[in-house]
Amino acid sequence: MSKQGKMRAETRLSQRGRYPIEKHGGTPINPPIQRASTIIYPDYATMKKFSAREIGVPRPHEIGQNFLRYGLQGTDTHFALEEVVRDLAAADDCLLLPSGLAAITLCYDTFTQCGGQVLVPLTVYHPNRYFCEKVLPRRGVSVQWYDPRIGADIDSLFSENSQLLFIESPGSLTFELSDVPALAAAARRHRVPSVIDNTWATPLYFDALAHGVDIDLHAGTKYFSGGSDLLLGTLASRGKIAAELRNAFELRGDGVSPEDAALALRGMRSLPVRLRQHEAGGYELAERLAAHPEVEAVIHPGRADHPDHAIFARDFSGAGGLFAFTLNSRYDEAAVAAFCDALELFVMGPSWGGFDSLLVPYDLRAMRPAAAWHETWQHKGWLMRVFCGLENPDDLWNDLERGFASLPKM
Ligand SMILES: *Cc1c(COP(=O)(O)O)cnc(C)c1O
Repeated sequence: MSKQGKMRAETRLSQRGRYPIEKHGGTPINPPIQRASTIIYPDYATMKKFSAREIGVPRPHEIGQNFLRYGLQGTDTHFALEEVVRDLAAADDCLLLPSGLAAITLCYDTFTQCGGQVLVPLTVYHPNRYFCEKVLPRRGVSVQWYDPRIGADIDSLFSENSQLLFIESPGSLTFELSDVPALAAAARRHRVPSVIDNTWATPLYFDALAHGVDIDLHAGTKYFSGGSDLLLGTLASRGKIAAELRNAFELRGDGVSPEDAALALRGMRSLPVRLRQHEAGGYELAERLAAHPEVEAVIHPGRADHPDHAIFARDFSGAGGLFAFTLNSRYDEAAVAAFCDALELFVMGPSWGGFDSLLVPYDLRAMRPAAAWHETWQHKGWLMRVFCGLENPDDLWNDLERGFASLPKM
């Protein structure tokens, strides 16, 4: 380990992924954006050496021998981003995928086979759920859905056919927290790889591998980018699992553009400071919402009134800016529409993690299997998912008050 190995995350995020090339007597801070399909080698011996990329992970012989590295496996631009994410997650390897969803499906592709079973939380990110419902059964892979709050009882859901444990905590939209160390330990006992969609927390706020999970998955589209202008997925893992993932990845042909990699790399440098602002603004809005008479409940894992807050306090070191609140249940869809249309700063749209604040209403009773809308909440009102951007929280609060003022008087 270099001297830099002891530095804190913020420092490493600025130091890693630098490929100094000396030109004109100086060096650009950022690695160049390298566009490449063909990579040419000066002689036979060099070409042979680079037919197996050195990633610090032992790789099966047949792959290493057959693949000659070219643009699809990345350029220095990609390797710089891989290095930063890998270092942040304390992993051996990091894969870059063209979207968060592609990172999710690569995990299923790598570890499942016909006759197998995967364990997936009921509250999983919706496109992930659709993949499980529509694609996996066609491949002869069954899905064992589980309550994200099941904890160590998940043990009884494993079978000899179990091939992958998927975790997402907090749950999508409803923010239930899982006892991740308990779930990951159960997967280890059953010799089943585990993966967590850790997009909400980033590796800065939840250290997935240190909590026993094998694969730390991120939609880099969100906080890593920070600009709402690219799509990216990342998978960080160690040892044999990392080698299996990379081998499956190289057989699939998914690549990320060097421009997107460079933008995400730039995003990573400022991740800690952006996250702190999203987090502070999020807490501020959540606090004011909780005191508002038209709000039924605020659902924010970092607040003491969240039913799973003890897990948050134990495992997480921060919260970011994504949370939800439910409106008083007497408001119908027309009222929700009036609320949304009165907003001037909050914009409506999926995907989050950029500088803009977002608000999206959901009628969860229509979207979720009953079991997933956990009885703990017992909420009846429309759920408003809030992403607190980088604007001043006072301005954002004034905007939400415009929304409340537009609700029909009943
Ligand atoms: C957005 C998101 C994804 C998917 O990312 P894309 O890059 O849009 O495919 C996956 N998981 C979570 C939790 C997300 O928020």
